[in-house]
Amino acid sequence: MPDALPTKHTLPRHTPERSCVACRRKRPQGELLRVVRAEGVWALQSGHRSSGRGAYVCSDSPNCWQDKKLRRAFGAQAVQVAAQLAERQHAPSLDPL
Ligand SMILES: [Zn+2]
Repeated sequence: MPDALPTKHTLPRHTPERSCVACRRKRPQGELLRVVRAEGVWALQSGHRSSGRGAYVCSDSPNCWQDKKLRRAFGAQAVQVAAQLAERQHAPSLDPL
């Protein structure tokens, strides 16, 4: 029985794509914000990597930050996630303090 698995084959280098949970568009990971769930709480991931269940939302599309659009992914916590996404716009993340 021939082993047909394509092992050790060079895969084309390509940016991983993720789908926005609000609009379902597929985009390069760098254009999306990651929301992670830790101990049952969804929160916007800030900077550092963290493991666990993640979801992605467009980083440049306020339409995708509305809690009613996030509800499908985050349920009752959509309101908090929406608030964090909105805050992110006003609070300059470059501020060291
Ligand atoms: Zn989106």
